[in-house]
Amino acid sequence: MNHHSSITLIIPLFLILSCSHAAEFKPELVESGIILQEEWGGERIQTDIEPHELRYITLHHGGVTFADTADAPAYLRNLQSWSRTDRDWIDVPYHYLIDPQGRIYEGRSVLIPGDTNTDYDPTGHALICVLGNFELAEPNPAQLDAVTSLMALMAHRFNLTTDVIGGHKDYATNTVCPGENLYPYLEDGYFRDRLKAMGFD
Ligand SMILES: [Zn+2]
Repeated sequence: MNHHSSITLIIPLFLILSCSHAAEFKPELVESGIILQEEWGGERIQTDIEPHELRYITLHHGGVTFADTADAPAYLRNLQSWSRTDRDWIDVPYHYLIDPQGRIYEGRSVLIPGDTNTDYDPTGHALICVLGNFELAEPNPAQLDAVTSLMALMAHRFNLTTDVIGGHKDYATNTVCPGENLYPYLEDGYFRDRLKAMGFD
């Protein structure tokens, strides 16, 4: 009798947990919340660059302090113009950027490789950049939620597993990116565990 009752307790709990997790991630909801280039005042580029095969999800920080009250669309317009005129890149270097309120902005198309000043090849990497300097600032819950949602969207869209989630400094030697206060969330498996709880491998 004891043996029986423990089984009947375990099964309903498992079902409840898996149902609530499955309901958490709605790719279309994340997708529809992304602020497109047209909405932040960017100039979308038409390009015939070969699409790359997405294999990694890689986290960055902006590397400069970004105030809670800063105008993210204005920052992005400047970044796009700087990328094109000063760096001769086709667009902003990242695929997605996240502001202090956790809003997600579209950078360059995720289907084409990003750009970098550092010594790694960003081909195959989905580049997510949290605006701010996380050598100094701490990421806030809205930013951590946005990173999680975006990583889940990438994993869903490109059929990736959580073991390809990493940070810029895992690939390049000459950077501290994404900063000593954001990197531990990669190191201790915070994002991986949240994706796993949503059902990703
Ligand atoms: Zn970086």
